[in-house]
Amino acid sequence: MSYTLINPTTEEAMETIPALDIDQVDAAIERARVAQREWAGLNPADRASLLRRFADAVDADRENLAQLEVRNSGHPIGNARWEAEHVRNVLEYYAATPERMFGRQIPVAGGLDVTFQEPLGVVGVITPWNFPMTIASWGFAPALASGNAVVLKPAEWTPLTSLRLAELGLDSGLPEGLFQVLTGKGSVVGNRFVTNLTVRKVVFTGSTEVGKQIMSGCADQVKRVTLELGGKSANIVFADADVEKAALTAPSSVFDNSGQDCCARSRILVQRSVFDDFMQHFEKAVGALTVGDPTQSTTDMGPLVSRQHHDAVSAYVDAKTPVAFRGSAPDGPGFWFAPTILTPESRTDRCMTEEIFGPVVAVVPFDDEADAVALANATEFGLSGSIWTRDIARALRVARGVESGNLSVNSHSSVRYNTPFGGFKQSGLGRELGPDAHLAFTETKNVFIPTTEKD
Ligand code: NAD
Repeated sequence: MSYTLINPTTEEAMETIPALDIDQVDAAIERARVAQREWAGLNPADRASLLRRFADAVDADRENLAQLEVRNSGHPIGNARWEAEHVRNVLEYYAATPERMFGRQIPVAGGLDVTFQEPLGVVGVITPWNFPMTIASWGFAPALASGNAVVLKPAEWTPLTSLRLAELGLDSGLPEGLFQVLTGKGSVVGNRFVTNLTVRKVVFTGSTEVGKQIMSGCADQVKRVTLELGGKSANIVFADADVEKAALTAPSSVFDNSGQDCCARSRILVQRSVFDDFMQHFEKAVGALTVGDPTQSTTDMGPLVSRQHHDAVSAYVDAKTPVAFRGSAPDGPGFWFAPTILTPESRTDRCMTEEIFGPVVAVVPFDDEADAVALANATEFGLSGSIWTRDIARALRVARGVESGNLSVNSHSSVRYNTPFGGFKQSGLGRELGPDAHLAFTETKNVFIPTTEKD
């Protein structure tokens, strides 16, 4: 079985990709199990050295990886280059892990007590289509670094960079079978990671709906699970902020990657007294966005990933919710969607509560600090957000008050490989990236050795 990819910019057919069946997935998991034993048996310095070689291979292939993402996903080339560099950085960062897998020595009576961080075995990583290579690396790099094998299932629409990364890993000298990319349907390949007993952990990034199914499936085997799910994040602009700067930077916080970003600040909350001022500057900034050919380095926004997704995003722009203004988008082939600014009359309008995952943002006024925090928290999600104010005490109060995993003040920080990332509430479970991520791919083992006869 196989299926054909479609270039989202041209709508032309591209590569044909195999859709694996359950037997093929089981065979790959078995190869991973064998490779993991070999990998975990290498000395830590050798594992670190192989991961550094993998990082170097990605570095040498950055431009190719970036071009693949432009073709497969429609990402603007500037973004895609950043993504390829990010994968290299993630690998370099976790290449330090094998030689720093410290346990603890715990004072106890009558002997020596030490802990070891043991690898889990085979880890299944399931990724979405919006940031195919970066999100894959958040799973496979720390998992490999802590001694595991990885089977990776990329999203159906966007497997090309993941397939290339598996080739680069093998070329760098990773044992055969240690890092495999298995293409095909989520309900077949991804679901087999959940049901196959040899897979000891599933790292899932995708929709909250599928994440809940995975979590309940994993419960059957008490399988470890990390979930990175949806978002409906708030960008809160107080009257005492640099309102012009907040408005001029707002497009990047919600329209980056055509809004197909779990961290998109898709609700902008503006203090009532500066609402009109904000909207004027915001309109100017949206008008200046270049939406078009993603191969050009001057392009800010490319197409949406697929026809199906284009139709889903379009359903949010209807006669029921007022449109304040829109940016531009090309005509002709390609899944184009102009940046769209909605000003809903009700705070429970579905554009305020549902993750649209496209270049559509809702802007609403608020009255005071308590109102802003309550409105920001009026969602089941809790992934990211921004706070604009010149009052540092308020910035800290609001940052502590907003139920979200990743906040930035007077900026719209993106993900960093060296800081933890993950969601509150239904945006996820567990954290990726940062200094502790590798620990989520280990079990803590405690060992006691008596030094006196009594114990
Ligand atoms: P999706 O849930 O449809 O699919 C994600 C992955 O799961 C795909 O590889 C898919 O094939 C697989 N899958 C589907 N059904 C499955 C099943 N029954 N069993 C196992 N695997 C299955 O999500 P998507 O549309 O690809 O991605 C968009 C979503 O991802 C958005 O909700 C977005 O917010 C979320 N996301 C979250 C983060 C984060 O870090 N929190 C990052 C990026 C995207």
